[in-house]
Order: sequence, then structure tokens, then C-alpha cells
Amino acid sequence: MLDSGEARVVDGPADVCVEACPHCERLVLPEVLKASLNVCPLCGYHRPLSALERIAQLADLGGWDEVGSDLQPLDPLGFRDLRPYRDRIRAAQASTGLREAFVGGRCNILQQPAALGVFDFRFLGGSMGSVVGEAIIRLVNRAVADRVTLVMVTSSGGARMQEGILSLMQMAKTVVALEDLRASRLPFISVLADPTTGGVLASVATLADVIIAEPGAFLSFAGPRVIEQTTREKLPEGFGRAEESLSYGQVDMVVPRSELKRRIAALIVLLQGGEETRIRKVGSDEKRPWWRSGTLGRTAARAEELARPARSWLRRGDS
Ligand SMILES: [Zn+2]
Repeated sequence: MLDSGEARVVDGPADVCVEACPHCERLVLPEVLKASLNVCPLCGYHRPLSALERIAQLADLGGWDEVGSDLQPLDPLGFRDLRPYRDRIRAAQASTGLREAFVGGRCNILQQPAALGVFDFRFLGGSMGSVVGEAIIRLVNRAVADRVTLVMVTSSGGARMQEGILSLMQMAKTVVALEDLRASRLPFISVLADPTTGGVLASVATLADVIIAEPGAFLSFAGPRVIEQTTREKLPEGFGRAEESLSYGQVDMVVPRSELKRRIAALIVLLQGGEETRIRKVGSDEKRPWWRSGTLGRTAARAEELARPARSWLRRGDS
């Protein structure tokens, strides 16, 4: 799989503009790609999405209420590497049209109320600096105030090195905010998109009640090159991909993008209550919802059985 998600635009016959898939390198019409939610219809490669594209795919039309839209990144350390940090921020803002690498807001997902936050990898590698940390906290506070499920889609290179220790502090800060969410008994669903790495994987992204990953997403604290150089060993095929993480139990499910919205809505219903009928697949004659059938249903039943003694113990603690 190629590291770059950049589409190569080539001229096809009769002035038809087609795009080459970065994975299988076959040509696909842009309309076809758009209809398949930016997933290659030939090989299933999940192309990267901008934050706004992701929100458009997940949130119901209308009613998007942005949280933390007044936050602006600063340069607290006066940091300069090859270029001043301020210049990098300005360039990222100009190329993405965003203020920062994270966009959050209140919305509905298939009529289920949620607080949705999305990272944008195009903005300085989706790195978590002070503003991203603060925006996450405000979104969590909003979820607590409105008593809704928190849904977060991550794609990030980790902490933002240009903000040094202030960036690393966001890991602790966001974890504390998520504790408030947990104390309020509100669910958190995390969606790990390609790539989710570093300090974001090691904090907010993996502290959810349910962790979903997109097919093929790279999920690892460090990149494969760094690991190979450190351990001086060749990494196995498929290292760090979502499917491998699923086999080790580090994620709960790998869900294709075409199913993602419905699955998130179903989980909100399952975790917070609601009308099951609303999220059944249109035209589906399936009598039981997906979480009560097949292997997952049996696992859920077993988990329920195992959780019973712990629940009654907790209840005793409450009284
Ligand atoms: Zn392809």
C-alpha cells in the first residue's frame, strides 16, 4: 500500500478526467469514487478524507453546530525548524481552509444525537497541539452537557513537535476530560482512520468504549521505519494494519466506510438506548439487529454474562 493518499489525475480518452488509485493504480472516474465514499471500487482501498468530507458522510444533513470554532493556533515557543512554525500554520490554513487539524460539533448520526470530532491529516499531519487538545475538551464538555455520545474519527501523526511539551500535555489533558465523560456514564466511540499513530493513538483514540478501525488503516505508536531501524528486524507483512490490530484485540471491529454511519448509529442506540427500528437497513428482512446475531451476537451475550457479577458489585458500591 502506498503511503501517500494523493490522487494522481491523468487525462483519459475523449477528455474524460480519471484518477489512478494510489493502491492498485487502476483508473477510476471521479463520480464513481464520490459515489463509493472515496473507496476504490476495484480494490477497496480507503482513500483519506478531509475533516469536512468525513463530517458530510457521517452527520445528518443540517443541524451541524460547531464547537470551539473561535480557537486559533499560536506559536508559544517561537519554534523554528526549516521554516518558522507560524509560516507552517498559515500555509496549512491556506491549503485546507481550516483553522486547525480538528473539527468538532454537535450533530445527529442517522437521527441519533452525537458530539462528533474529526481530525484532518492534511493539516500538519493531523498533529495534536494546544488548540486541538482544547477543541477536544470543549467537545467532550458539550457531550456531557447535552448528554450525548462522543464520536471521534482520528487520522494523526501524533503530538505536534513544534509545540514541544505543551503538545505532550494535551495527552494528559484530553484523558482527564474523557474521565468526566466516563463519570457521566456517556459512551465514547472511536473510529481509527489511516493513519492513527503516536500521542493520539496513545491517548484519546484508544480510550473509547468501542474502537472501530477502517480497513487497511495503519495503527501504531511508531512508524514501521523507526521500528525496523531500532530493532534491526524486518517487520512482517501487514504490520500495524487494522486487520492485525483486530486479531490481537486492540480494536473491536473493522468496518468498511459504506457501513460506518449505520454501525455508529446502531452502537449509539445500543449504548444509550433509542429506537432500534430507525437504524435497520432499508429493505432488510433481517429480524434481529446485527449485534444480536452471528459471532458478534454470541460474543455480546458472553460479555453480558461475564459482566453481570461486576455490575451487581458496582451497584452494591453505589448504595
Ligand atoms: Zn484501487
